[in-house]
Amino acid sequence: MGLPLREELRGIEPYGAPQLDLPVQLNVNENPYAPSEAVVADVAQAVAEATRRLNRYPDREFVELRAGLAAYLGRDVGGGVAPEQVWAANGSNEVMLHLLQAFGGPGRTALSFAPTYSMYPEYARDTNTRWVVGHRAEDFAIDVDQARALIAQERPSVVLLPSPNNPTGTALPPEHVAALCAATAEAGGVLVVDEAYAEFRRAGTPSALEQLPDNPNLVVTRTMSKAFALAGARLGYLAASTEVCDALRVVRLPYHLSAVTQAVALAALRHTDELLGNVDTLRHERDRTVDWLREQGLTVADSDANFALFGTFADRRAIWDGLVARGVLIRETGPEGWLRVSIGTPDEMAAFRAALLEVLP
Ligand SMILES: *Cc1c(COP(=O)(O)O)cnc(C)c1O
Repeated sequence: MGLPLREELRGIEPYGAPQLDLPVQLNVNENPYAPSEAVVADVAQAVAEATRRLNRYPDREFVELRAGLAAYLGRDVGGGVAPEQVWAANGSNEVMLHLLQAFGGPGRTALSFAPTYSMYPEYARDTNTRWVVGHRAEDFAIDVDQARALIAQERPSVVLLPSPNNPTGTALPPEHVAALCAATAEAGGVLVVDEAYAEFRRAGTPSALEQLPDNPNLVVTRTMSKAFALAGARLGYLAASTEVCDALRVVRLPYHLSAVTQAVALAALRHTDELLGNVDTLRHERDRTVDWLREQGLTVADSDANFALFGTFADRRAIWDGLVARGVLIRETGPEGWLRVSIGTPDEMAAFRAALLEVLP
């Protein structure tokens, strides 16, 4: 008997980057620096305390964690962020699914501009939301006039814009955020600026958080998976109006954030400065990597993130394979002909450079 699988899911493979056990892992934009022993000890103790109460459901509203995340975000905004303006879930992927569950759905449209994060169309599909994709310019910037026209025409209820963008590394200038936010508001939608890589942005690039007070339809998502070096903990969050957060409380599963997750995230927040301590090293290594790739005659997108998109190759698969054969795992993603490398430790980047020199045509 055939399973009653939804028509649009037939023949679809589960999405995800290949998880190959290679010595140099530069494929999913993780922070290469593991937490220190001091952080490990504090997190372990917090988990032990949480374990003593694991017979009970966790705090459904994760009040303490919301306050901790709000305080952290307050570093980036003059007026601060209130705990009621913060929402969190198991990775910002789940946060964005909540957004689509609340603001998307049958008869509605979600919109982004390619090349963009490959998960967005999946949230749209899974929530029966129509998916529309515009295009970025040749330099991966967004043409604001074209974008405004597309938003006016398609009237999306959700616009998803990563800044810095994955896979290109391109950050949105604040005036573009303001213009697109206004255009989305006119269409009756919410604008989600996905700032998964915000902590890596170059000096002088402000966060969209600064525009929250002026824009009730603006949502800024963040994650502990990248700069915070906590990808394994699965904790993503957002800041928005309290109305947005209250809408998300309706669609979340009961007790979606486990007591263990909350304890780990709170303990990590107590070590914010230490966990973010390698961000400057990574930004420096990124700039060095971009320069080096350009010196090899390659085209490289300017990056405000912890990765670089480079190309172009007539056969990018051959380059990727050649690197894999040399123990270096990068990502085959982005427009045809391009490859993405995450920024690792200086030793890992040296291994990447040596391997790439051997496989370049
Ligand atoms: C890595 C990434 C995220 C983070 O996902 P988590 O679920 O928080 O691990 C979100 N958005 C983009 C564009 C990313 O590249």
